[in-house]
Amino acid sequence: MNIRTIMVLGAGQMGSGIAQVAAETGIQVILYDQHDQFVQRGLNTIQKNLSRDVEKGRKSEAEKQAVLARIKPSIDLADAKDIQLAIEAVVENRDVKCELFRQLDALAPQQAILATNTSSLPITEIAAVTTRPELVIGMHFMNPVPVMKLVEVIRGLATSDETTNIISRFAKHMNKVPVEVNDFPGFVSNRILMPMINEAIYCVYEGIAKPEAIDEVMKLGMNHPMGPLTLADFIGLDTCLSIMEVLHEGLGDTKYRPCPLLRKYVKAGWLGKKTGRGFYNY
Ligand code: NAD
Repeated sequence: MNIRTIMVLGAGQMGSGIAQVAAETGIQVILYDQHDQFVQRGLNTIQKNLSRDVEKGRKSEAEKQAVLARIKPSIDLADAKDIQLAIEAVVENRDVKCELFRQLDALAPQQAILATNTSSLPITEIAAVTTRPELVIGMHFMNPVPVMKLVEVIRGLATSDETTNIISRFAKHMNKVPVEVNDFPGFVSNRILMPMINEAIYCVYEGIAKPEAIDEVMKLGMNHPMGPLTLADFIGLDTCLSIMEVLHEGLGDTKYRPCPLLRKYVKAGWLGKKTGRGFYNY
């Protein structure tokens, strides 16, 4: 299958990044969100990123305009009628994603692949609400999408070899490196990363050290480019909590229980960088 037009669902941090990178590699992109202002916010982010590229001499103004011209805003799911691929990047909530896949399944062409950028939710379960589970797959980009090379390609129980091959090829077309994994809670990336972040939050909760000290230990001692609490703020503390809940529920082991301090921050609306406050102030 030749992928020429895709729909990206959700114009937040991840959706706008995916839309930008796809458009930069010549793909026509329909950028969909619930409301005009959310789509516009995503487009503004893309515009800012591209302007920075122009300032730094990485792109010409004409290239920037050509990329922007390939991204069409949408608040109507029926615009999926001519796509070859949908990449869903809405909020990390099982019910919201399943409902969207149910609707997409009815509106997108029968042979279109439906991918999700979920950080942890079961691909198999999302696929099961559609009539095409062999065409449903996880395409897990990393944040920020324009910078990070990895795409974790997650096969649900029914995902076909053909779908997996097409998506791996498409990830390469987007200048990313696909790595294939199977569908278990957290896949590989968040099965390993998120318990480390959760443990760093326990260190704050138990008064072992201040966030700055914890991040410094992991940066200087373990050679991590960013401390775990800075990274948590960057990912979004609501997303971190959702992923820990999926690990806890899906694997049934108390070692994955979300730290109470993480729950408290999320309840307070301290979601990290996107709300201006998390473990740090922005
Ligand atoms: P975000 O909050 O920045 O964006 C989510 C967007 O989805 C918002 O614009 C919101 O309006 C939109 N949305 C919510 N419900 C919708 C619906 N029913 N229909 C259409 N749009 C809807 O979140 P994000 O950080 O971009 O995360 C999106 C997805 O990507 C999540 O599944 C998350 O787990 C995953 N992910 C996040 C990261 C990260 O570091 N933030 C990394 C990899 C994957």
